[in-house]
Amino acid sequence: MTAIRISGTALADTLRAEVAQGVSRLQSTTGVTPGLAVVLVGEDPASQVYVRNKIKQTEAVGMRSTHHLLAADTSATALLALIDQLNADPAVHGILVQLPLPPHLEAKAVIEAIDPRKDVDGFHTQNVGSLWTEGCGFVPCTPLGCLHLLQTVRRDIAGLHAVIVGRSTIVGRPMAALLLNESCTVTIAHSKTQALPALCKTADILVAAVGRPQMIKAEWIKPGAIVLDVGINRIAQSDGSTRLVGDVDFEAALAVAGAITPVPGGPGPMTIACLLANTLEAATRMASA
Ligand code: NDP
Repeated sequence: MTAIRISGTALADTLRAEVAQGVSRLQSTTGVTPGLAVVLVGEDPASQVYVRNKIKQTEAVGMRSTHHLLAADTSATALLALIDQLNADPAVHGILVQLPLPPHLEAKAVIEAIDPRKDVDGFHTQNVGSLWTEGCGFVPCTPLGCLHLLQTVRRDIAGLHAVIVGRSTIVGRPMAALLLNESCTVTIAHSKTQALPALCKTADILVAAVGRPQMIKAEWIKPGAIVLDVGINRIAQSDGSTRLVGDVDFEAALAVAGAITPVPGGPGPMTIACLLANTLEAATRMASA
């Protein structure tokens, strides 16, 4: 068996094109241009790359993008004052604070300060609660992208057993809620889980969100399973260069899985596309409020 490769790059292109159409429809019917404000504190190189990408793609779909690049020693008071200002700005429909924040800033307090209607990352407690109670708040972008990817190969997933390896608040937990809402039977695994390989082997849907290169082996995968690999890990090669790999041993898994996302080119591109979709949704809701 050779698994279907689920392309996040292709699906993200499609979603971005749909968002661009939605933006121009919103502009022509209401005069509103969706605006995303991106806040970056400090100079973490990886965060700078993510933020540049987000700004570029926001503008490419016709949205307004503002960015706020703050010094690493910015105080909590100054950051919260900026969030207040963005909450009050009617031209801003989505607010994204790039994580991680420098150690002296408490991410939770900053996220809770964002108006939940503008929390397009879906991290505010109100949106988290909404997801777990099947409400209509914003869903975190990476798990939302994973669900879209999964639905390209199988629409009806009710009753399937999903095993999610990783229980972070940005990937594992919201992924579990999304799959539960789709009537999957969900198991969440983490670093204390026992007999992980055997557990993974029971999964019809296996989501890897660990951050350990190629940890999940082909022997852990149930034949025909759908595998979503969220991990992004940079590993050194023998020639001194580096390359990105996921949490799954992709090449070996291809022979066992029914469908699998690659890294790069899997959930990664879908994350930003879902951020744009959430921002359009925020602007649409505010325009009709
Ligand atoms: P976290 O570090 O927050 O969480 C990792 C999770 O993996 C934890 O729940 C941890 O368990 C669990 N874990 C660690 N080691 C093991 C192990 N040996 N066996 C089982 N579980 C283990 O990571 P994130 O959720 O933020 O990210 C996970 C990966 O996804 C990373 O590679 C990250 O770069 C990538 N990522 C990709 C995104 C994208 O856009 N595609 C977006 C966000 C993240 P415990 O809770 O017990 O410590």
